[in-house]
Amino acid sequence: SVAARRAVLKRIKDEGVEHVLFWFTDLEGHLKSFAITPNEMEGALDDGMGFDGSSITGFNRIEESDMVAIPDPTTFQILPRPVDDHGHELGAKVGRMICDVVKPDGTPYEGDPRYLLRLALERMRKAGFDTFNVGPELEYFLFEDDKGTETLDEGGYFAMTTQDAATEVRNDTIHALESVGIQIEYHHHEVAPSQHEIDMRYDDALVMADKTMTYRIVVKEVAAWHGYYATFMPKPLFGENGSGMHTHMSLFKGGRNMFFDPKDPHHLSKTAKSFIAGLLVHAREMSAVLAQWVNSYKRLVPGYEAPVYVAWSQRNRSALIRIPLYKPGSEQATRAEIRCPDPACNPYLAFAALLHAGLEGIEKGYELPDEMTTNLYRLSAEERKQRGIVALPGSLGEAVEELAGSELMRKALGEHIFPRYVELKRKEWDEYRTQVTQWEKDRYLAAL
Ligand code: GLN
Ligand code: MG
Ligand code: MG
Ligand code: MG
Repeated sequence: SVAARRAVLKRIKDEGVEHVLFWFTDLEGHLKSFAITPNEMEGALDDGMGFDGSSITGFNRIEESDMVAIPDPTTFQILPRPVDDHGHELGAKVGRMICDVVKPDGTPYEGDPRYLLRLALERMRKAGFDTFNVGPELEYFLFEDDKGTETLDEGGYFAMTTQDAATEVRNDTIHALESVGIQIEYHHHEVAPSQHEIDMRYDDALVMADKTMTYRIVVKEVAAWHGYYATFMPKPLFGENGSGMHTHMSLFKGGRNMFFDPKDPHHLSKTAKSFIAGLLVHAREMSAVLAQWVNSYKRLVPGYEAPVYVAWSQRNRSALIRIPLYKPGSEQATRAEIRCPDPACNPYLAFAALLHAGLEGIEKGYELPDEMTTNLYRLSAEERKQRGIVALPGSLGEAVEELAGSELMRKALGEHIFPRYVELKRKEWDEYRTQVTQWEKDRYLAAL
C-alpha cells in the first residue's frame, strides 16, 4: 500500500539507515540477500531490483536467469546490532525487507518458495477459510564454534542454571527478536546440553515463514556476538535429543477458529479432524519437505521425543500429531501440533505442504483414525501392523522416493519446484549413501 511504502522511506531517512537488505530464499530455505543503498529505495519499491538468479539453488539456469526482487513494504525492519561495554550500538544501521521474486515481465516466479506458500493460501481461501495460523517451536544448539560440537553447559529441560553464558545469550536473542517485530511467548533450556528453544507467538503462515527465516539469522547473529555458534542442524549430537520444529496449526474464518467444537470430547471440529487426517495420510509423502536433510532422519528415531510413527494423540509425545491441552476448551488455543518438521526446513515449503495435506483431508472428507494413547516406541512391529500404524520414512532416500511418487506434493510444489527439489534431494542422498563412515571402519575393519 502507499502508506506502507511511505512509512518505509520515512523510517530509512529518520533513522539514518545506511543499507537495506533484500531477502528471499532458495529451494532449500537458505536465506539469500543483497544490499541496496537508500538512494535506490524509491525506485526499488516501485519496480523491484533485478538480480541474476542463475546461481541460486533451485532457481533457473543461465538461459533465463534474470529475476526481479519486489520488496514487501510491510516487512521492513531494522536489524539488531551488537552493543559495546557502554551500551552503544556498533556497526552500520541496516534495514531489511522480505521480497517476492518475479520474472522480468512482472509475473510471479514459480521457483520462489514464498509464491508457493501464497498459492497454498489461495487454495485455502477457495476452501472457505481466511487464515492459516502457524506456531513453530524452533530448537537449536549453541556450540563453542562451528568446527565441532563443544557444548556450553550440561543443561536439561527447563534447567534453571545460574546466570551462565547461555542464559545471557538467550536473553539477548529475545531482545533482538522482539526488536524486529517477532513476539516471543516463552523460552527455555531444552533437554540436551546446550540446547535451547524460543517460541514465537503464532501468526498467519506467510508472516510466520518470514519470521522463521528472520529468527534463524537473528539467533545465529546474536550467538556470534558472544563468540558462539548457533546451529539448527537437526541432530548434531549422537545419543542426545535432536532439534525439532514442532508446528502448531489452525484454520480461522472471520476471527473464529474453525478447528474448535465445544461439544466434541477433544474440542475438535469435523474440519479439524479431516485436516489432521490429511496430515496423517500424506505424512510420508511430505516428509522430504518437513525433514529435508540426510541428518533429519537421525533425529526421527525412537527414544528422543521425536516422532517415528504416523498416529495422533492428545498427550502422547511419541505420536506424530498431538492435540495440546494447555487451555482446554479455549477456542483460540485449539490446534494440532505436528512434531516431525525440523528447524532446518524451508518454512515456506513446509507450511505450504502442511496446508495442502490438511486441505486435501477436508476437501476429500478423510476420516480421522482412532487416537493412539500408548507409547508408540514400545509397540512391537506386529502390534503396529495390527493397528495399521505406519512409520515415517527412515532415511532421506526413502523420503524422497515417497515424495517423487506423490500427486499431492507435485501439486503443492508445482511443476517448476517439484522436479528440481526431487533431483536435489536424490543427489544429496546418493552422495551420502556412498560414504564410508567412521562407524563402519570401527565396526568392520578389524573384524572382517
Ligand atoms: N527435541 C525434541 C524433538 O526432536 C522435542 C523435545 C520437546 O520439545 N519436548 O522434537
Ligand atoms: Mg516446546
Ligand atoms: Mg521443545
Ligand atoms: Mg511442542
